[in-house]
Amino acid sequence: MYCPFCRNPDSRVVDSRMTDDGAAIKRRRQCPECGRRFSTVEAASLSVIKRSGVGEPFSRSKVISGVRKACQGRPVTEDDLALLAQEVEEAIRASGAAEIQAHQVGLSILGPLQKLDQIAYLRFASVYQDFESLEDFEKAIAVLRQNPSPGLDSGVAAGNLRGASATDGASASSGASASATSVSSELG
Ligand SMILES: [Zn+2]
Repeated sequence: MYCPFCRNPDSRVVDSRMTDDGAAIKRRRQCPECGRRFSTVEAASLSVIKRSGVGEPFSRSKVISGVRKACQGRPVTEDDLALLAQEVEEAIRASGAAEIQAHQVGLSILGPLQKLDQIAYLRFASVYQDFESLEDFEKAIAVLRQNPSPGLDSGVAAGNLRGASATDGASASSGASASATSVSSELG
């Protein structure tokens, strides 16, 4: 870039350091023409567009402070939060977009947070997705329960068997299950 003082098209880097969060590099430069010094900042461009339409640079610390509230009293460490924020940023950057809606940042947090702590996830989701009733919680919990194993299938299959046995006609009056039917025929 040009020297901001004399417009000389060349400059020399005299110092280079990463910002504390590692998201950018600051360079101190000196113009070989006029000798004056100036600073530049280099960062991968990623803006978050807020609901108001105003854009601001993506910030891991904002992700962390949002999630930390939901994690109060939970066995979640600062390292866990830092990793989660990193995961969120990587997922967003992987999309290749230079801009993202704040809403999308929230959505990107839900997945990693669910893996980290399910209670914190429910708290975060209840605020973020505007839970309005117990039903909303029940639905979210039902989804969480579906993830580990599909344990409901056998129960559904038993219900289907019951319907088939009723057409046999042997004891049509009882609407009970197949096992109950066999018990009543033993009694008779
Ligand atoms: Zn200059």
